[in-house]
Amino acid sequence: MRVVAYLDELDLPVAGVLADGRVITLAALVERAGLREELALLDVRGLLAEDEDLAETRAAVARAVRDGMRGVPLATLRLVAPLEPGKIVCVGSNYRSHVTEQGQPIPDHPLLFAKFSNAVVGDGAPVIRPATTQALDLEVELGVVIGKRARRVPVEAAMDHVAGYVSANDVSARDLQGAKPALAPGTRGDGQWLRAKGSDTFLPLGPCIVTADELGDPAALRLRGWHTPADGPDAGRELLVQDGATGDMIFSVAQLVAFISASITLEPGDLVITGTPSGVGVFREPPVFLVPGDLVRVEVEGIGSVTNPIVDADGAVPSGSPAARLLAGRDDKAGAG
Ligand code: ZN
Repeated sequence: MRVVAYLDELDLPVAGVLADGRVITLAALVERAGLREELALLDVRGLLAEDEDLAETRAAVARAVRDGMRGVPLATLRLVAPLEPGKIVCVGSNYRSHVTEQGQPIPDHPLLFAKFSNAVVGDGAPVIRPATTQALDLEVELGVVIGKRARRVPVEAAMDHVAGYVSANDVSARDLQGAKPALAPGTRGDGQWLRAKGSDTFLPLGPCIVTADELGDPAALRLRGWHTPADGPDAGRELLVQDGATGDMIFSVAQLVAFISASITLEPGDLVITGTPSGVGVFREPPVFLVPGDLVRVEVEGIGSVTNPIVDADGAVPSGSPAARLLAGRDDKAGAG
């Protein structure tokens, strides 16, 4: 099952389910498939808390589809990030290829950090390059959505706590982060990662949550990242910059959930992003960073891709740039919907 979120008439996020490229709203499931009315008013996090493993929702969708119900066209809904996570626990240095490109040793336990909800945006929404950085970069990551509370769970039981997966972009300001190739001589960055990775809009998520039963083995997925520069010799061309496989993870999804839950209880609707493979801009030769006018896109196999325009701190982009075109198309769609 593929779960999305959209804004209702009151601009509140509610959950829907994708079927054949259309969205079946939970409200429609109440009327036509006997879904409990309380569930229809919930956002995805609330739904996960109320309907463990989404079994009730899944059954209602199956009944609805069997009865010939078709969803509403995607374009008529204002889709947003499929989850407003509770906690966002992030894992650094978790791909052999990414650790190797930095010349670092393989870590013997996961490196954890956090983002907050201010960072979350959906597909198509602007990613803001704040005035505090000149070295914005992408990181394609597999996002793990918690379904059932996980507290001190062993590795063998950890996957029972995973509801599904989402494509994520761990946008990072490399100069703030203190990455050497991004630093001007004599500067050091923050010495920690909170601003570098937690600034507003630094976590595009989407386009949907694919439930664990549908996605299959999370260690057998290709994940890719693209950069469309607004300027330079490749202006307007989408360049593949990251191309990795989740099988390259140092710590598996199960190991990460177990490790985190040993000290931090994970609740339904919490999110774990699991690290990035090689190919990020800062370790390219020479380094490549995202600037206003560019587009960035990430995709995890079987989930779908998330594209975001880069805008400056005031929301501006150069006219005619790839970002400007995407934003103009988005405005048209919003008007039509
Ligand atoms: Zn990351």
